[in-house]
Amino acid sequence: MRHCKQIVDLVSQEMESKLPWSIRMEVKMHLLMCKNCHRYAKQLKFMQAELNTLEQNLNTVSLAEPAKERIKKTLTLAINESTND
Ligand SMILES: [Zn+2]
Repeated sequence: MRHCKQIVDLVSQEMESKLPWSIRMEVKMHLLMCKNCHRYAKQLKFMQAELNTLEQNLNTVSLAEPAKERIKKTLTLAINESTND
């Protein structure tokens, strides 16, 4: 039987790489029995999902870079024209 601390470490490890089947089962069994580790694993997975969403959103922003540049140019032009009057 592993301790909670070990299980928590394994849950974190599983986020980055696939663990052997037997260890995954052991973690799963522990999470079924232990409320604290279960809650921790849930929060970790939630945070991971949020991070993925954030990363995707950042990618969307960088894809829109040419559009942002166009808007900036248009605004700069408009400002220059209005100050030239
Ligand atoms: Zn536990």
